[in-house]
Amino acid sequence: MLLEIEDIHVHYGKIGALKGVSIQVDEGEIVTLIGANGAGKTTTLKTISGLRPLTSGRITFEGQDISKVAGHVRVRRGIGQSPEGRGIFPGMTVQENLFMGSYARKDSPAKELAEVYELFPRLSERKDQVGGTMSGGEQQMLAIGRALMTKPKVLLLDEPSMGLAPLLVAQIFSIIKEINDRGTTVLLVEQNARQALQVAHRAYVLETGQVVKSAPAHELLDDPSVRAAYLGGD
Ligand code: ATP
Repeated sequence: MLLEIEDIHVHYGKIGALKGVSIQVDEGEIVTLIGANGAGKTTTLKTISGLRPLTSGRITFEGQDISKVAGHVRVRRGIGQSPEGRGIFPGMTVQENLFMGSYARKDSPAKELAEVYELFPRLSERKDQVGGTMSGGEQQMLAIGRALMTKPKVLLLDEPSMGLAPLLVAQIFSIIKEINDRGTTVLLVEQNARQALQVAHRAYVLETGQVVKSAPAHELLDDPSVRAAYLGGD
């Protein structure tokens, strides 16, 4: 098991956002978390990357307990995150943004930079453009590219398709598949449940801070209650 989350509880003040969530991610998988607004998907990713502290429970990465390890150390160990809302540096160029992903590494990021430009030719064409002037879809690509520059073993993606036109949504999902085919494990949070389930191997359904279902992704595509709640019922 590459990443194991066991019975985690997370609070914002007194309010419990995660109430005993357990999730496993095996090497090579795409695992997706689906659920309504406020279910706790973002909080789960933030807790894995170390941006939110645990109240209780345990997170194990490559067999080691990382529950109390600082976020920047988790990045170095191989947990890369592309946050919701993208969080790129608007005043820096595309290439400078990408190098922000690799600044803490001691080895040369040249190979990853070439890979990012191969995956996202648009970023290569616009490497000297200031990040803040890129379109929504391009900024999303940049955020994913920056996370890839950390050379992650597992890539945490928070709503990568948010706010994008349908054509770009399809493109982002096919890039996620390509990233996984090239060997990176992916934990994907999505509102766009149908496409997430189509690209993922396994899925967890979160409701009000708890996992209510977990199954191979293709099974959930045919699950009547999932269809009714998350796939528009068709
Ligand atoms: P969405 O799809 O809307 O982003 P989500 O499933 O990612 O939803 P979270 O953002 O993880 O859900 O939120 C889980 C719960 O924690 C919600 O009830 C939310 O209101 C609460 N919450 C999230 N962030 C904070 C915060 N900074 N302060 C207080 N409560 C928060």
